[in-house]
Amino acid sequence: MARIQRRTTDHPDWCTRDHRCGIDTHRSPDIVVDATGARGIVTRVRAGDRDYAEITIRIRLDHRDPIAVRQVGLTLHLIRRLMNAVTALRPGTLATGAHRPALDRRQAA
Ligand SMILES: [Zn+2]
Repeated sequence: MARIQRRTTDHPDWCTRDHRCGIDTHRSPDIVVDATGARGIVTRVRAGDRDYAEITIRIRLDHRDPIAVRQVGLTLHLIRRLMNAVTALRPGTLATGAHRPALDRRQAA
């Protein structure tokens, strides 16, 4: 009788090791950021040999369409600024052991 052997998966320390962890991806617990009329969820993801911050944001829009369209445009503009700012950071500019208040926030269930 043939035996099926599966190699154990090496998970990073921050991985949830749950159903969201796939064959070639690892996912951290969700980190929730709340603001008035908005909520963001940030998840650290390892895909292949790179780590990413996966971000889902829900922002309440005005009920008047012209204003909602402007709000969506502003959202896109600010997301681009966020992406550029984070990717421009150099590792040496980030102090280790620094106070990291976002890590103390509650996690999504
Ligand atoms: Zn994993």
